[in-house]
Amino acid sequence: MRLVVDADVCQGYGLCHDEAPELIELDDSGFATVLGDGEVPEALVVVAEKATSMCPARALTLS
Ligand code: SF4
Repeated sequence: MRLVVDADVCQGYGLCHDEAPELIELDDSGFATVLGDGEVPEALVVVAEKATSMCPARALTLS
């Protein structure tokens, strides 16, 4: 599975990073970037699903 952040939608709440620091980093303003190529290891799929579901802006997509 692949995790993607829509930078045009992200509002910089930072909640995704709280949930999935292994997958997401924040810039100095709190906006999210997916680490690496966004490929989610099997062991982190549940974490990625939680991060995606808790984003208030619906900026994360897991597909
Ligand atoms: S929780 Fe959503 S809005 Fe907040 S930083 Fe993460 S992707 Fe952006």
